[in-house]
Amino acid sequence: MIYLQDLFSNPAIETISITAVIDTALCVGADSSSETLTEQPIVRTADNKLLIRASQIKRCLRHECEKIARGLGWPICQSSNAKTMCPQRTGFSEEEAKGLEREEYRVPNDNRYHCLICQMFGNSTLPSQIIFDDLICEKEPENLSEVLHPNVTINCDRCTLKDKKHYLLETSPANAKLRFKGDIHLQPDFPPDAKAIILAGLHQINALRGSKSARLGWVQWEFKRFCLK
Ligand SMILES: [Zn+2]
Repeated sequence: MIYLQDLFSNPAIETISITAVIDTALCVGADSSSETLTEQPIVRTADNKLLIRASQIKRCLRHECEKIARGLGWPICQSSNAKTMCPQRTGFSEEEAKGLEREEYRVPNDNRYHCLICQMFGNSTLPSQIIFDDLICEKEPENLSEVLHPNVTINCDRCTLKDKKHYLLETSPANAKLRFKGDIHLQPDFPPDAKAIILAGLHQINALRGSKSARLGWVQWEFKRFCLK
């Protein structure tokens, strides 16, 4: 059985505090094309504070780390479809499959190979070795003015506005430099060599986006220096 309190009380877990400073207005509930609340990266907490979902940060960071790992010559699988990720890697050529069969890609108690990125972020058979907190806005909601932007849906084929599709979007104030704080927890089996990739990956995230759009805003990161061996 897994006890939640044990997940973060283990001294072998390394915690990195990160702060996202948002330069542009954030659309609350964006990506509004997402059908469920869990797909919406920016929502509010129960006490009405703005919140960036952990899953949103994890998705962005995995994407950036994949690019860096490929650039460094590490063969890696293709996310985010489980079939094309380790250990299945459907559609990989024989040569590509051979490239992934390397000693560094072995994990304890498993005779299959898992690429560096899967060892960090997990896949359908391997738990993630990096756990993200939601990032919560430091500013109290009563000190944050509410901004409503009128919007309308367009029909791209007909170059017309869609009937009865006028709506209001709630956003945070623009240029408010809102700060969202949270932690990243590196689990004991996190590949030690990959910490530098995490650091570089965070630096590469300069915009937050929804699953289907790019309208969440520009972001800068602040985090404490952490030890790289
Ligand atoms: Zn993989």
